[in-house]
Amino acid sequence: MAKIVCVLYPDSAKGHPTTYARDSVPDIRSYPGGQTAPSPNAIDFTPGHLLGDVSGELGLRKFLEGAGHTLVVTSDKEGPDSALDRELVDADVVISQPFWPAYITRERIEKAPKLKLTLTAGIGSDHVDLKAAAERGITVAEVTYSNSISVAEHSVMMMLSLVRDYIPQHDIARNGGWDIADAVARSYDIEGLQVGVVAAGRIGLAVLRRMKPFDVGLHYYDFHRLPKEVEQELGLTYHPSAEALAAVCDVISIHTPLTPATEQMYDAAFFAKMKRGSYIVNTARGKLIHTDALVEALKSGQLAGYAGDVWYPQPAPADHPWRTMPHNGMTPHTSGTSLSAQARYAAGTREILEDFLGGKPIRDEYLIVSGGGFAGTGAHSYDVK
Ligand code: NAD
Repeated sequence: MAKIVCVLYPDSAKGHPTTYARDSVPDIRSYPGGQTAPSPNAIDFTPGHLLGDVSGELGLRKFLEGAGHTLVVTSDKEGPDSALDRELVDADVVISQPFWPAYITRERIEKAPKLKLTLTAGIGSDHVDLKAAAERGITVAEVTYSNSISVAEHSVMMMLSLVRDYIPQHDIARNGGWDIADAVARSYDIEGLQVGVVAAGRIGLAVLRRMKPFDVGLHYYDFHRLPKEVEQELGLTYHPSAEALAAVCDVISIHTPLTPATEQMYDAAFFAKMKRGSYIVNTARGKLIHTDALVEALKSGQLAGYAGDVWYPQPAPADHPWRTMPHNGMTPHTSGTSLSAQARYAAGTREILEDFLGGKPIRDEYLIVSGGGFAGTGAHSYDVK
C-alpha cells in the first residue's frame, strides 16, 4: 500500500466555503487539438467546489483510503522541520500545486528513498529538481492542459487591464472619486497595437486565438514553429528570438516553462531592447524575470506596466517589491486555480493516481520525466538544449 503526501494551499482564514457563487461549472470533455480531458474511473467531489485547499484534499481521501492507501494532506512545506519533510521520509508519492509549490529539491529527494512519483496538480513542474528526479528514476507527471485555458483567459484579462489602466480606474470609482482626467491619463486602446507571445504552446496559442478579434498585430516566438495553416489563420508573424519579438511589440505575454535556459532571461538588457512604454504579462513563472531590473524598468518608464501571476518564492514575502512597484497588476498565483480549473486538475490527479497505483502506464501527455529522462510533454517542452 502506498503513502501519498499532498501539499496544498491552506484553507482561507474565513474557513473552507460552504456555499458558492454559482451552482455548476461547464463539463469540458476535450481541449483544442483533440486531447481529452481527464477521465478517472470516478470522482468523489462536486465540480465547482474548492478542492485545492487543505480541506478540499483534491477530493482524493475516499478513493485512496478506500483502496487501503495512506493520504497525508498538509500546507506546511518550508524548512527542515516542516510536515512535508517529516512525511517525505517514507512517502511513495508527493502531490503539489504550483500555486503553493512543495519545492522537491535534490536534498529532499535524497531524504525520500521510497519516492517514485511527484505529481503536479496543475501544470509546470519546475518546483521539482527534474535532473535529480530523473537520476533517481522518479516519474514526474502533471495534468497537462487542465488549466491552460484558465491561464490564457487570465493573461488576456491582464493585457486589457494594463493597456486600458483598469485597476486604478476601479480604485477611483470604489473610493468615491470622479477625476476622469487622472483616470485616463495612462489609458489606451489595445486595437492596433502589436501583441506578442513568447512560447506558443497550449497557453500561448490560446492567448493568440483570444487576441485575434481585438484587431491587433499578432507575433510569436517558440523554438517549435506552429503549422503554416495556424500562422495564416491567425495572421501571425514568427520571430527567431524573444528579443526580436520584443523589439517590435507593444505588449508581450510570457508562456515558457522555467528551465535553466529561461531563468532570469528577462533582465535589464532585455527590457532595454523593448519600445519605451511597453507592457509585459507573465503568467508563466516569476523566476523568468530579474526581480530588481523589472522594478527599475517600471520606475524609469521603460515599461508602462507589468501584470504577473507568478512569483519567486511562493508564497511571496509581504515585502516583495513586486507587490508595490509602479503600474503593476499582480495576482497571487490564481490564474490556474479557478474553481473551473480545479475540477479538471483534481480529476486528472485522480486519473494519474489510478493508473500509477494500478500499475498501468500514465498518459504520455502527462509525463515530464519518466524512465530516467524527459518524456511526453517534458520531452517536447522542457528538454532545452
Ligand atoms: P506547453 O508545454 O503546452 O507549452 C510550452 C511551450 O514553450 C512549448 O511550445 C515549447 O516549445 C515552448 N518553449 C519552451 N522553452 C522555450 C524557450 N526557451 N523559448 C521559446 N519557447 C520555449 O505548456 P503550457 O500549458 O502552454 O504552459 C506553459 C507554462 O505556463 C508552464 O510551463 C507553466 O510554467 C506555466 N503555467 C502557469 C500557470 C499558472 O497558474 N499561472 C498554469 C499553467 C501553466
